[in-house]
Amino acid sequence: VFPDAEDYDHFYLVLQWPPTFCNLAPNKCHKNATKFTYFTIHGLWPQKKNGGGIICTSGPAFDYDKLAREKKLIERMKKFWPNLRGKDEQFWGDEWNKHGRCIGLEQNDYFNRAANVYANENISSLVEELEKHEIHEGKSYRIEQYKEAIKSSRLNVTPNFQCNEHGQVQQLLEVKLCVCKKGTKFQDCTYKVGQCSTTSLIRFPHEWNKITHRPD
Ligand code: 5GP
Ligand code: 5GP
Repeated sequence: VFPDAEDYDHFYLVLQWPPTFCNLAPNKCHKNATKFTYFTIHGLWPQKKNGGGIICTSGPAFDYDKLAREKKLIERMKKFWPNLRGKDEQFWGDEWNKHGRCIGLEQNDYFNRAANVYANENISSLVEELEKHEIHEGKSYRIEQYKEAIKSSRLNVTPNFQCNEHGQVQQLLEVKLCVCKKGTKFQDCTYKVGQCSTTSLIRFPHEWNKITHRPD
C-alpha cells in the first residue's frame, strides 16, 4: 500500500448515464456508445470516511496484457465499463492509474471487484428499477426524488449524484454508490457531495439522436 492510500475506508462505484455524458458536444462519444442503454461504470474510487477522494500518485502502472489474459473479465468489462469515447484500454488504464494502483490490490483483482459488484447487484437493470419507482427517461425530477427511488429500490442505499449542465438545464450524469472496503456490498453514503442542484429539476435524458459523434 502506497502513502496516498493510507486511510481509505470504502469505495465509490461511480455509474454514468451514457446519454448525459454523450449529449454534451465536447465529450464526442463513439457511435457505438448508443448501444449502452443502461448505467455503465465510470470508476471504482477509494474514498476516506468523510468522503474525501484518494488520487493515486504511485503504484504499478496499468498492464493491458495482464488484463487480456483474463478473457472473461475483459468480456464483462466491455459491457459494464466501456469507454463511451472509443478505446476501452485507454479509459481502464486512466482509471487504474488514478484510482487503483496505490491501494494495495492487484490490478485484475481491482477490476474483478468492480465487475463482480456490478453483476451481482444487477446494475444493468437499474433503469428498470428506477422506472418501477416512477423515474422515467426523458423526464425531470428533483435530486431528492432520485435518491428516494434508489433508497426504496432493491438496492436500498443512499447514494450521491453528479450532474452536468446542458445549456441552462441540469442533467443526471452519475450515480455514486458507496461500496464496502472488500468491494462486495453497497452501503449508505454518509456524506453528501456532488454538483447537483437541490432545488431545481434535473433531467434524466434519453435523446441519443442529439449526440455528437466522434468523426469516423
Ligand atoms: P469532477 O470535478 O468532475 O467531479 O472530478 C474530477 C475528477 O476528480 C474525477 O474524475 C475524479 O478523478 C476526481 N474526483 C472527484 N471527486 C472524487 C471523489 O469523491 N473521490 C475520488 N477518489 N476522486 C474524485
Ligand atoms: P476521473 O479522472 O475522475 O477518474 O474521470 C474523469 C474523466 O473521465 C473526465 O475527463 C471524463 O470526461 C472522463 N470520462 C467519463 N466517462 C468516460 C468515458 O466513458 N470515456 C472516457 N474516455 N472518459 C470518460
